[in-house]
Amino acid sequence: MDLLTPVFVTLSGLFGLAIGSFLNVVAYRVPAGISLLRESRCPHCDAPIKARHNVPVVGWVALRGKCDSCGAPISSRYPIVEGFTGLVFGGITWFFLTSAGGATWASSSLPLALVLIAYLYFAAVSIVLTLIDLDTHRLPNVIVLPSYAVAALLFTGAALLSGDWNALLRAGIGMAALYAFYLILRLVRPSGMGGGDVKLAGVVGLYLGWIGWGALAVGAFFAFVYGGVFGIALILARRAGRRTAIPFGPWIILGAWTGVFAGETIGRGYLSLYSGS
Ligand SMILES: [Zn+2]
Repeated sequence: MDLLTPVFVTLSGLFGLAIGSFLNVVAYRVPAGISLLRESRCPHCDAPIKARHNVPVVGWVALRGKCDSCGAPISSRYPIVEGFTGLVFGGITWFFLTSAGGATWASSSLPLALVLIAYLYFAAVSIVLTLIDLDTHRLPNVIVLPSYAVAALLFTGAALLSGDWNALLRAGIGMAALYAFYLILRLVRPSGMGGGDVKLAGVVGLYLGWIGWGALAVGAFFAFVYGGVFGIALILARRAGRRTAIPFGPWIILGAWTGVFAGETIGRGYLSLYSGS
């Protein structure tokens, strides 16, 4: 096993901890309309938060989950999001590097680096949109729309360097197909799907299409599996009626990552059932 892969996975995990800390800020401030540039303050007493207490996970543990100035509790969601983002970044880096047969410093690995950055960006967007959708039932355009540009730029760069134009074409088709599919769902039943879901579906189509048709099909399908199972569970638990609005964004996202990690494998298994190979 090459040494570079575990090094990159570790660095990416540490980077993810810092990004997770930023995502907490974005998830809190974007829906509230507060500038991202403002320094961190306790939402209870407005005291500025010391730099050493801003260190991901460690800061919260050092404070024992309470504000240093006023003692107001600080939600455990903060360190959980930070730790989770770190694990996710490390995991995605491991998945893409090992799928490509390991990392090297050769320029031939540059397309892989661009693709990895694209999926780390998508992971960050996935986490922050899940938090915001659960909190506010919204998927803000300021977060969803730039994802199109970021993915298009990084995937086009990777295609230019690797010559893999098929992947770029698939990404474009995936984007158009999922956007159109969700748009039809929204037109048929406007109460079931939000406009934010349609725009997010286009982003998901880009990321799934780049990987392959299996990823696209599995990722699109599993959003409805997860959403359906969750909806039925809520109704059975009598926590929701048939008309309760359930945020669908998190299921689109969870389906997308199922497609990224397992879509190609599931797709091949499914096809081999019919070809007998
Ligand atoms: Zn305070």
